[in-house]
Amino acid sequence: MRNTSGNDHTLAVHAGEPDPKIEGALSIPIFQSSIFETYGAERYHDIKYIRLSNTPNHIAVHSKLAALERTDAAIVTASGMAAVSTVLLGLLSAGDHLLVQSSLYAGTQNLLTTDLLRLGITFDSVNVLDILDLQRKLKPNTKMLYVESIANPLLQIPDFSDLIAFAHENNLTAVIDNTFATPINFNPVCLGFDVVIHSCSKYLGGHSDLVAGAVVGKASVMETLYSTLTRIGASLNPIDCYLLHRSLKTLPLRIERQNRNAMEIAQWLETHPRVTNTTYPGLNSHPQHDKAQHYFRGYGGMVTFDLGGRVEAVDQFLAHLRLITIAPSLGGVESTITKPAATSHFCISAEERHRMGVTDTLLRMSVGIEQAEDIIADIDHALSML
Ligand SMILES: *Cc1c(COP(=O)(O)O)cnc(C)c1O
Repeated sequence: MRNTSGNDHTLAVHAGEPDPKIEGALSIPIFQSSIFETYGAERYHDIKYIRLSNTPNHIAVHSKLAALERTDAAIVTASGMAAVSTVLLGLLSAGDHLLVQSSLYAGTQNLLTTDLLRLGITFDSVNVLDILDLQRKLKPNTKMLYVESIANPLLQIPDFSDLIAFAHENNLTAVIDNTFATPINFNPVCLGFDVVIHSCSKYLGGHSDLVAGAVVGKASVMETLYSTLTRIGASLNPIDCYLLHRSLKTLPLRIERQNRNAMEIAQWLETHPRVTNTTYPGLNSHPQHDKAQHYFRGYGGMVTFDLGGRVEAVDQFLAHLRLITIAPSLGGVESTITKPAATSHFCISAEERHRMGVTDTLLRMSVGIEQAEDIIADIDHALSML
């Protein structure tokens, strides 16, 4: 890598770029070759093969990701869930137990309750805002603590240093899904997390055109996870490596913009009489605003708000949006909105959902890079139609 100041913007552009440039190309070409000539290869893992995640496109995106997360190594995977599966299957064995945060990403929760339980790996859900709850649920066979940097959809933020201290005291591998915060707002490895997971389908890809995942962490644990991934076979194809690598160059720009837009929109929503509650880590009213301020460089692009009243009014509001798209995913350049009770939290019973604070009138917005005033005008217009 060329010399960089370690600044996100410079790293995003220059880290991981082939040096010297391949045929002088400023943009790394797509190496659409499943296998490479084996002349000089001595070990199995020297063979360049897409499933072994070692083509030039893989190598480039791996080092850009590792640089942005301020750690040793990264591997990309066929989806965010492939990253989650690789970490859980690679680091846990039959008879092991793990502590996971309650309100996990639904795919992760499903993996735990179906496949992992079937394989003899058990778990307990904990309130990560309360270390005593972790203490209570700790077992002699607990091996891992698994959390998310910002929980969906109520955007809770735990005290990460307390979690790390707890993990170290009890010899647990500390794993964090950093999808919502992104490496631009938060670098969990710097606090002591062992493994960081990303769904690159969200902010890292950022253009709603690719499904990918990443596992990032210290060299020692990454070696294990790399071999697990090659056995599972959930490698990313070179075209998506290329798309992700290209997208990462603008990640800091996009995140700065999304942080700023989300803050403006959250502040506006908070004062609107039709909005009963606005949740954003950057607002003073957020219950863990001090944690967000302490740990994050930016508060992220996710804003959650509640319209209260009848569900029909919420559906009417959504129907009147013209700029903001109704879609359950997040992290793209375009603003999207979703009703968690009908999407991400649909499989949870209504009672349990309400206990968690996920009402039927709650909306979760992924703020894009459009002009903030235009997004606000769209929401304002739709609200005025109620
Ligand atoms: C989307 C998401 C995942 C899963 O990622 P896919 O790329 O859809 O497989 C995992 N964790 C979080 C927090 C997510 O938002």
